[in-house]
Amino acid sequence: MATLLTPDQTASARSFVEVFKAGQRVCLTTHVNPDGDGLGSEVGLLHLLRARGVHAFITNPSPTPERYHFLFADLPGADRTAEAVKELRRADLIVVLDISDVGRLGMLSAAVKDSGVPVACIDHHVSAGHLPGGPRYVNPDASATGELVFEIAQANGWPLGISAARALYVAILTDTGAFRFSNTRPHVLRVAASLLEVGIDPEQIYLEVYANAPEGRARLLAESLQTLVVEPEHGLAWVTVPPGALERLNVSSDDLDGIVEFPRSIVGVRMALLFREIAAGRVKVSLRSVGAVDVAAFAKPFGGGGHTKAAGLSLEGSISEVQARVLTAARAFLNGDGSR
Ligand code: 5GP
Ligand code: MN
Repeated sequence: MATLLTPDQTASARSFVEVFKAGQRVCLTTHVNPDGDGLGSEVGLLHLLRARGVHAFITNPSPTPERYHFLFADLPGADRTAEAVKELRRADLIVVLDISDVGRLGMLSAAVKDSGVPVACIDHHVSAGHLPGGPRYVNPDASATGELVFEIAQANGWPLGISAARALYVAILTDTGAFRFSNTRPHVLRVAASLLEVGIDPEQIYLEVYANAPEGRARLLAESLQTLVVEPEHGLAWVTVPPGALERLNVSSDDLDGIVEFPRSIVGVRMALLFREIAAGRVKVSLRSVGAVDVAAFAKPFGGGGHTKAAGLSLEGSISEVQARVLTAARAFLNGDGSR
């Protein structure tokens, strides 16, 4: 296959993998509430490393959502999330994927920070955070971390099997909103084409990721959309997940994926928000933008981050307190040029 990489990408992907040695125990980890990119890039890398004799395991701060269990069907025992702290203590090396900040590792933050082993990082976020030392393969222009794992494989001549290709396709599919968002660039479509050439089945993957939902996911969408508020004068729209809805409908936070696209889809909206209580007195806000509005810049003063067009933050307070604070700031932000 012709290379899709620049000479610089090839050189940095080659030096990145020097850290991996056959026989080592390596833990792969990603952000709290892992998504398709976090999990897909981990599973893709895990297959690649195991093929090189590395004992790789996945140790995440939150359990794998039901919809991604299919990625582990041929990997019994590889997802050690339930024993993450114990596994991290035994690791010779840790790889953090799809984040660059220990703060986003939730209950594993301390175990990674104090591990005393190199912490490698593969990520595509704009906001750099704090991580212990180790090699980096980071590019905010990449659509997904899965795209970066593909580059690492290609630069090093590591063949991709069906399972690895499928996992990396899931990563790219989910982070590009199924090839709809502005990060759907020529390079990522070429990477996706290479993954299809390995022989994966895109319809089967679509069915697993998007058409295998519990009934509660549709009901959660219905209840959340009932709360829609639109302020056309500011270009703002938001929805609020009714407190307790996840438990009552027997769904998980993964089932919220995509709901914020509905307020975002309304004509004239420049910033869409989704509010939800993640613990008593703590509220998470998902942010999406249209056009030049930079929601990563908006999130930063609140301690949040992400990408220009998709970011998040969480704050202490009741839902109404956090809404008052964040919406006041959003109106002011949008009345400026919103792209500072
Ligand atoms: P989502 O709204 O889908 O949870 O996240 C969208 C993007 O914002 C993702 O790239 C995610 O990494 C980032 N993000 C979400 N919540 C937070 C947060 O609390 N802090 C930071 N730094 N980034 C977040
Ligand atoms: Mn990602």
